[in-house]
Amino acid sequence: MSHQLSDSDKEPWTLVQNQIKEKVTPQQFTTWFSGLNLVKLDANEIYISAPNSFCKEWIENNYIDTITSSLEEASISNRKIKFIIENTSSSGPKPCTQSSDSSPNTDSPTYINKNYNFDNFLVGPCNRLAHAAALAVSESPGTAYNPLFIHGSVGLGKTHLLHAILLRLQEKGHKTLYLPCESFVNHYISTIKTGDWDNFRNKYRQIDVLLIDDVHFLANSQSTREEFFHTFNALYTRQKQIVLSSDCPPEEIPTIEERLISRFRWGLITRVDPPGFETSVAIIQKKTSLLDMELSYDIACYLAENVVSSVREIEGTLTNIHRYATMNEGKVDLGLVKQLIKGFSKQKRNIGIEKILNTVTKHYGVQLSQLHSKRKLRSITLPRQVAMHLARKFTNLSLEEIGGYMGGRDHTTVMHADDKIKKLKVLDRNVSSAVRKLEDTLTKQQEY
Ligand code: ADP
Ligand code: MG
Repeated sequence: MSHQLSDSDKEPWTLVQNQIKEKVTPQQFTTWFSGLNLVKLDANEIYISAPNSFCKEWIENNYIDTITSSLEEASISNRKIKFIIENTSSSGPKPCTQSSDSSPNTDSPTYINKNYNFDNFLVGPCNRLAHAAALAVSESPGTAYNPLFIHGSVGLGKTHLLHAILLRLQEKGHKTLYLPCESFVNHYISTIKTGDWDNFRNKYRQIDVLLIDDVHFLANSQSTREEFFHTFNALYTRQKQIVLSSDCPPEEIPTIEERLISRFRWGLITRVDPPGFETSVAIIQKKTSLLDMELSYDIACYLAENVVSSVREIEGTLTNIHRYATMNEGKVDLGLVKQLIKGFSKQKRNIGIEKILNTVTKHYGVQLSQLHSKRKLRSITLPRQVAMHLARKFTNLSLEEIGGYMGGRDHTTVMHADDKIKKLKVLDRNVSSAVRKLEDTLTKQQEY
């Protein structure tokens, strides 16, 4: 039985919206969610209206998990979500929001972290090429490497390098513009509303250097990619510098067109990797001195061995240690650090790797030996990557250890798999529901 909703029936939607608000930033909420409405609820389906197809597509591609979990939290679960486009008399696309403040203030200095400069960036084998290229671009923008494309997992210093280039070039008086890709997309959408294309184009084209962070965000909007392509061409032909970052190499950005990939290849594509032992020690020593905290070499080594996945994770651990140290009159010894790290990692549920492998192989109907093999069929690579993602999420094993359980793979493979599944959880409904199911099974088993 289905029914159209009257006003009094709309209360559940308010609950859902409140749940969504807890998961996204106010700007994301205003831009993408405030224009959505619940139109019909059946036993099996829920119909949500979006103001235009652009918004519908964006939500489906980027925020389906957010909507699904918010519906569950508002006790509207187990229904297929269907999006419909609102009937509007006016022609042409409308943005998701009617609010005028959805246009990003990309000139805002709040986006720039002055500490993300070259002086504070530690160089090691993991980032040497990216760092050298960033310096070269700061020396001779538009001629050294154009575009410069830096990719790598989260927390490895991509944003830091982009800011460092920006700060250096600003000092030299170049006209620069840095922005996260999501702001570019938001600006594009608000321009669909205002029609002020001159303003939009002037903003991105009358500059010497354009730095766009996290361009993998372009994955889900064909029309924004189109506009980005023209912006790229306009700057490139005038030898203006373009610097881009992404969490994967260009060809792995889902749905991206070959013509954009080939343009990215015109310059230099370089990867940042997780820091190795020596670089981690150096980073730990640098960060502790910035925190005005004393840490012995032994402790730095212990941390470097045990906190391996990203520089951001190292920083988080140090901040926690610093917090405890301040409460303990500044004293930090190895015993305390070990205890703290154990405490932090206990926050994970600590489900055994065997249980994860069992559950995943059963769910996908594959053999453990297939997960261990080098076969590249999607029917095998997907469960293999899902297993690595779940191991990262639920165990305290290091990347190397997980790689060991997965047929002797190295730590970058595990990291890549984890990232890939995180991305697919947003982009691919089948993957997100399978992973959610697996997580449910694992955490339920845990309760016994
Ligand atoms: P990403 O953009 O790749 O996700 P960030 O640039 O935001 O990562 O880096 C995460 C944190 O780690 C930042 O605080 C940054 O300053 C720090 N960081 C990353 N790499 C380095 C490095 N090589 N030296 C010093 N700090 C670093
Ligand atoms: Mg970043």
